[in-house]
Amino acid sequence: GEKANSEKVYKVGVDTTYPPFEYKDGNDYKGIDIDLINAIAKNQDFKIELSPMDFGGIIPAMQANQLDVAIAGMSITDERKKVVDFSTPYFDAGLTVVVKKDNSIIKSVDDLKGKTVAVKKGTTGAKYAVDNASKLEIKVVQFNDSPAMFQEVSNGNADALIEDYPVISYAIAQKDLGLKIVGDRLNGDQYGIAVLKGQNKDLLEKINKGLAELKKDGTYDKIVKTYLGE
Ligand code: GLN
Repeated sequence: GEKANSEKVYKVGVDTTYPPFEYKDGNDYKGIDIDLINAIAKNQDFKIELSPMDFGGIIPAMQANQLDVAIAGMSITDERKKVVDFSTPYFDAGLTVVVKKDNSIIKSVDDLKGKTVAVKKGTTGAKYAVDNASKLEIKVVQFNDSPAMFQEVSNGNADALIEDYPVISYAIAQKDLGLKIVGDRLNGDQYGIAVLKGQNKDLLEKINKGLAELKKDGTYDKIVKTYLGE
């Protein structure tokens, strides 16, 4: 029933800590994803409520009907398309390998043999590492959130990590994590907004319409610029 749209408050899953896309600032959530979903909801006249959680919990929560929407720097993948419907892409990302700043041995993914690689549960980075573990001869360790994963490499417990390029480059620019990006991007992931599969067709149409309008009227660029500059 989409008739009660004006009263319905859509629950939106977001990652807990994923700047510049979402992060807590005092009691508020900020970031590109947060501003974007708020602007889309305003443009298309629907109400939302944010539900921050570990990224790995978002798709299971959608499948359990605890969330209607997710915007969490979530990459559009064929595997996820089996359980959610995605909006048109709104951001180009892609995975990259990250090591300690003073590491002169690992220059790309090909130098990871015998190394321990930190990833975040439920992500495309985790899937890449697990799927290629035997081929690359790596040991994979999984974390619930990005800061814990960064820490593991900063403190030398893991040799490398795999993270989305825009997220790790933003983190490195914000503060000295003692980390650096190595090699080429491993893929060309694009972010999409997810809704429950087959159940929110009208909502998905509104999201796509809102996204297109915000891109056209400059709001999208303004939001991105707020966090990433020119
Ligand atoms: N883009 C990656 C994915 O979709 C990571 C998302 C995240 O960590 N919030 O799996």
